Amino acid sequence: MPVFEYAPAPESRDIANLKPHYRPFIDGEFADGSGEPLKSINPATEEVLAEVSTASASDVDTAVKAARRAYDRVWRKMPGAERAKYLFRIARLIQERARELAVLESLDNGKPIKESRDADIPTAAAHFFYHAGWADKLDYAGYGPDPKPLGVAGQIIPWNFPLLMLAWKIAPALATGNTVVLKPAETTPLTALVFAEICQQAGLPPGVVNILPGAGDIGAEIVNHAGIDKIAFTGSTDVGKLIQRSVAGTPKKLTLELGGKAANVVFADAPLDQAVEGIVNGIFFNQGHVCCAGSRLLAEESIVDELLAKLRYRVSTLRLGDPLDKNTDIGAINSAEQLTKIRELVESGDSEGAQRWTSPCPVPERGFFFAPTVFSDVHQSMRIAREEIFGPVLSVLTFRTPDEAVTKANNTPYGLSAGIWTEKGSRILWMANQLRAGVVWANTFNRFDPAAPFGGYQESGFGREGGRTGLEAYLDV
Ligand code: NAP
Ligand code: MG
Repeated sequence: MPVFEYAPAPESRDIANLKPHYRPFIDGEFADGSGEPLKSINPATEEVLAEVSTASASDVDTAVKAARRAYDRVWRKMPGAERAKYLFRIARLIQERARELAVLESLDNGKPIKESRDADIPTAAAHFFYHAGWADKLDYAGYGPDPKPLGVAGQIIPWNFPLLMLAWKIAPALATGNTVVLKPAETTPLTALVFAEICQQAGLPPGVVNILPGAGDIGAEIVNHAGIDKIAFTGSTDVGKLIQRSVAGTPKKLTLELGGKAANVVFADAPLDQAVEGIVNGIFFNQGHVCCAGSRLLAEESIVDELLAKLRYRVSTLRLGDPLDKNTDIGAINSAEQLTKIRELVESGDSEGAQRWTSPCPVPERGFFFAPTVFSDVHQSMRIAREEIFGPVLSVLTFRTPDEAVTKANNTPYGLSAGIWTEKGSRILWMANQLRAGVVWANTFNRFDPAAPFGGYQESGFGREGGRTGLEAYLDV
């Protein structure tokens, strides 16, 4: 079948208002950090976007003290209805500056503009709107009358959804009356620092939100600071375990959102064309840099050949390239380091005997790109079936009975999400009860809503973000 050719449709980067320097946001002001400056690059071109001044251990101390002052003097005393006004203002400012934020996110992270524009930024605004609604209703959240905040929250986020992960962290913390010290990821600090400007625009009292760019050591400084009451971390399971060890024996509360290796289970009776769209969305959305990505496809044996043929055709139509082009489906891998990790795992798939198919799409010479890849003949013992690749690589396994599908789906140390594709409602309910995963999607994948709690089992972490349940992580219940 012929594939339509598309003319280039690049979004202008001017609207990102890129500045040569960005600085930490402490106590309501931008200030030079005394850490080693870092350069944030555009992973699609390898060009330096901006120099970012970073925080040092003493800046962490200053920020935590500012957050404590803001907590004691202003924020925890403020009626919920007043806190809600700030959250609503922030939500509206994110909407007003949505195009600027979307272009900046795509530049700094490498994700396609259609995703930052249609998913990341609107969902970030939605989290503030949703939590603004809770701020004056906490008495009715099911945690008894007048539930109390925890104090100062230290929050550490990864690079895959920079502004959205910030929203998942900051919105519930502020709604419940906590103040915040947040560290964005080293490779994607820019939208967090524009968010700091939004806090100023919204007139948020100084110290309620502090943003400290820096590397992992600054994350550790935040975790270990005695003035922190609660840690919320999203990132890798290894760092999550380190953090859990370092808060053991302290009164700090902890929630961890970690890795995943989700099963996307397709039964023979599923509408296959629809399932193909869900599989593509499940693993190729955001270049597969998604903790809940459907990275293990479990296909019923009788339809695996037909499904693979449809899937390969569909994947071969995905357009890879300039993240700012509105027609781009697959953007850049976020860093050279991540690209190396993906390549290493893909090589292990080859050497362990899986069958590799790679989309024939052209790959730009500069920048960090990886063509969408599907491995078939994958066995459960292979690394590509067990380890999180965090890239556009799908591992396909098969099953014959629903019991076998459940056993294979649950054969993972993780447990963040799962997908089920079948016409039978009773089977969906049965499967959903058997699968050990925080989120189970049926005949869809990667659907998010601020009202729905998100979180994991086992090595995918603990605690929930979003929904009424997500408030619990920031309240003394
Ligand atoms: P990562 O290396 O764990 O980094 C996450 C954050 O922690 C970054 O800000 C990082 O700083 C910081 N950090 C590194 N070492 C630290 C330490 N010793 N103490 C405190 N903070 C430290 O993870 P990543 O590779 O950036 O992110 C990918 C991982 O996140 C994947 O495993 C993915 O599944 C997971 N993830 C989970 C969810 C979820 O909701 N469950 C959502 C998104 C991503 P630097 O930026 O300087 O490294
Ligand atoms: Mg960057």
